[in-house]
Amino acid sequence: MTFATLQRIKDVTDRNVLNLQEAKAAGKHVVGEYCIYSPMELAIAAGAIPVSLCGTKNDSIPAAEEILPRTLCPLIKSSFGFALQDSCPYLSAADVIVADTTCDGKKKMFELLAQKKPLFLLQLPQIQNTDAVTYWREQYAKLWQFYEQQFNTRITEDDLRNAIHLMNRFRSALKRVFDTSCSKPAPLTGMEIMECGFRLSFMSDKEHAIQLLNDLATELEAAPASQEKKRAPRILLTGVPTGLGSHKVIELLEKSGASVVCIDNCTAYKKTTLIIDEHKDPLTALAERYLDTPCAVMSQNPHRYTVLQELAQRFSVDGIVDLTWQGCQTYEVESYSVKNFVRETLHLPFLHIVTDYSPADTEQLNVRIEAFLEMLA
Ligand code: SF4
Ligand code: SF4
Repeated sequence: MTFATLQRIKDVTDRNVLNLQEAKAAGKHVVGEYCIYSPMELAIAAGAIPVSLCGTKNDSIPAAEEILPRTLCPLIKSSFGFALQDSCPYLSAADVIVADTTCDGKKKMFELLAQKKPLFLLQLPQIQNTDAVTYWREQYAKLWQFYEQQFNTRITEDDLRNAIHLMNRFRSALKRVFDTSCSKPAPLTGMEIMECGFRLSFMSDKEHAIQLLNDLATELEAAPASQEKKRAPRILLTGVPTGLGSHKVIELLEKSGASVVCIDNCTAYKKTTLIIDEHKDPLTALAERYLDTPCAVMSQNPHRYTVLQELAQRFSVDGIVDLTWQGCQTYEVESYSVKNFVRETLHLPFLHIVTDYSPADTEQLNVRIEAFLEMLA
């Protein structure tokens, strides 16, 4: 880590598990979530701590493969393997799970997970229109009741408004950090962008996280430009979620000389777009904003293209890499349209990578990545 605040973030977030366990011992409830469509705001309004449980580690996959098909996406297998082994401290701490009917593999895995913890399954509509927003708002209203029953509490509209305000500030601060990579060269590497967002997402104390993010943004905005990084091709990484443990492609790109300036997936930049309108009915505002999230589970998924265009221009990228986890049909099929859009509309080079969390194909990926970067040069 090259910036002082990054080191502070690392030191503080090394205590994430301990802090969560202490908060739980002091009577706080913990909500485990698996997808960006589950609104953290409602969990916070219920007085709970939301944590993201999407599995990013290869270690838990063999246990999951005893039950789930080997051909399933590694994210689903990794998540389920943690549950089988009881080896994820965040999942162990969770009192309840909130999940969404996104892709087929995930929603069927949740049926098995529901045998281990109380689980509320949000029935996600897979279209983005006004009827779907009305339906999605009803789903959130049911989740509201679920929290009240589970935690024996009452959530007021003011609680929800306060939670929305807090998360808006958190996501604005995250965006401020990510947007520093618009400058040429970007002060952070893609690995630092990913690690910073990943670690802070597990912090129970969101006020502290906001302060750290704003301190980091201030430090990055004042940093002198690195001459060494100036020539690195600027890459936008799109596609499936990534995190510590599933960072293989980001690392390979940067080891081959690229600068990953924007990661537009739901574990990174997509989160920063969830700024909720604070002047509307809070549940309606939440439903509208969250349902608008561009993910390949939506059909059609038009916002994926408008967001790609906007980010490619704002981050001045030289090429786009689309990452798909093996077994993820939605992202794999959509990649064909994304490729056409990137080449024909954005006039940018495009590389599609299909892989998993294991290092088995590293050499083969290296060859493809190096050839792609040579073409950009
Ligand atoms: S890729 Fe889509 S379905 Fe998967 S976690 Fe992200 S938003 Fe949810
Ligand atoms: S990456 Fe694809 S298959 Fe895996 S959980 Fe997300 S949408 Fe489902």
